[in-house]
Amino acid sequence: MNAPPSRPSPPLRAVRTAPTCPVCGRPTAPTYRPFCTKRCADIDLGRWLKESYRVPSEEPPDGEGGAPDPAPGGPSRGPTGQDR
Ligand SMILES: [Zn+2]
Repeated sequence: MNAPPSRPSPPLRAVRTAPTCPVCGRPTAPTYRPFCTKRCADIDLGRWLKESYRVPSEEPPDGEGGAPDPAPGGPSRGPTGQDR
């Protein structure tokens, strides 16, 4: 439980390097974490939106013919189309 006396706990703050803005690389401001300024946050957000925009949807634009599934065999289903 207790740390060995011969080994003082390492200074976490020293080990941890100051976070930097992923956009411009400047030190992060706590207000705009993980960015340094609102501008950088906006830039990153813009990239994000652009990327999500560019992601192509895997769904085809339309099925073959377009009609989902026209009920085959009209007369066997009933003259009026009702099932019951
Ligand atoms: Zn920045």
